[in-house]
Amino acid sequence: MKPEQFSEFLTNSFIKYTSITSQSKSSILELPTTAGQMTLAKILKEDLISFGVTDIELQDNAILLAKIPGTVAAKPVLFMAHIDTTDIGESPDVNAHVVDFKGVDFPLNKDNTKIFKVADHPAILKYTNDNIIVTDGTSVLGADDKAGVTVMMGLAKFLSTNEVPHGDVYLLFVPDEEVGLRGAYAFDINKLPKNILSYTIDGGPLGEFGYETFNGAGVTIDIKGVSIHPGSAKGILVNPILVANDIISLLDPLDTPEHSEGKEGFILVCDISGNASDAQIKMIIRDFDKERFDARKVFLQKIVTQIQQKHPRASIALEISESYANIANNLKEDRTCITIVEEAMNNINVPILVEPIRGGTDGAVFSSKGLPTPNLFTGAHDIHSVYEYLPVSSFTKSLELAIAIVKLTPKYK
Ligand SMILES: [Zn+2]
Repeated sequence: MKPEQFSEFLTNSFIKYTSITSQSKSSILELPTTAGQMTLAKILKEDLISFGVTDIELQDNAILLAKIPGTVAAKPVLFMAHIDTTDIGESPDVNAHVVDFKGVDFPLNKDNTKIFKVADHPAILKYTNDNIIVTDGTSVLGADDKAGVTVMMGLAKFLSTNEVPHGDVYLLFVPDEEVGLRGAYAFDINKLPKNILSYTIDGGPLGEFGYETFNGAGVTIDIKGVSIHPGSAKGILVNPILVANDIISLLDPLDTPEHSEGKEGFILVCDISGNASDAQIKMIIRDFDKERFDARKVFLQKIVTQIQQKHPRASIALEISESYANIANNLKEDRTCITIVEEAMNNINVPILVEPIRGGTDGAVFSSKGLPTPNLFTGAHDIHSVYEYLPVSSFTKSLELAIAIVKLTPKYK
């Protein structure tokens, strides 16, 4: 495959992969949560075999790992993308198609009832006279993250048809990112060499490069009250719902997602349930800064202690579990995984936009396991909406970036 064939290969492969329905489902506990993800994983495996890749492992949980052996002594590199798409309550089936964007509003579907309005998405004007892949207005596009999947397939195809000196290249496709990064948690990182460079291809517009994410933790507060018939409750009843209310009332009303941006963190109360005898509060903690992140945990512990003293006959249990860690925390002295991307972006003439990622990524899970895994752009815009779109020129640059990184690996043995 030659560079002038990249856009055609990527467009056709992307439309093929998005036509396979593989939305994940949070209520299902098994991995993968939906059969479509396994269907897609099997197709990716077959396509890799057709490109001449032989070292492939497809696990029962739909985690697919392939290795393209290096041709010279060089640093090994991993690219990773997720095979599920998000459920926003629209159709799970994706009908992607290409439009030749002329800088004006255009219909997404044939009967012109769904219109893409440029004024609502002004960033698209940068791509006037470009081919853009869009939906038919009934679903997400699923460029998040089938654009990343397709770029990795393009990389495999390119390496199988071009003589490029490079180190071992690992391609990892994981299920169920959108429902709690479950594929990344399930992957055994010991299958990878220790000195590997690692990247997710799951980012946004052209040039975006993310190596700062939230630190994330989940919080569960279980409250046991004392229940009795309300008619004879005086001095006995401890209502767990009111205890829960007391706890929530001590939270900082400004330390919430709706009051934060950039690198600011928050505590989000995301679920509360209760009855006469028990109540439960669920929260998440997010912050880029590790100290502020840890300070929030201490703050919650203090609140719980205070409310426990106020209601000595209730029993309140606080449990905090780590979800993922800021990739930047784990970079330490070795910043090779950053510098090689800076060099590669320079080689393909794409200015870098370093963006803090206000969410978790599969890479943040790998980072908490000790493998820093920054996030590379796919070119996609407005993900998790029916107006999600993917300019083909940016998509092609995403493949060029992966190739440029691979080409630099012999420099970093
Ligand atoms: Zn994604």
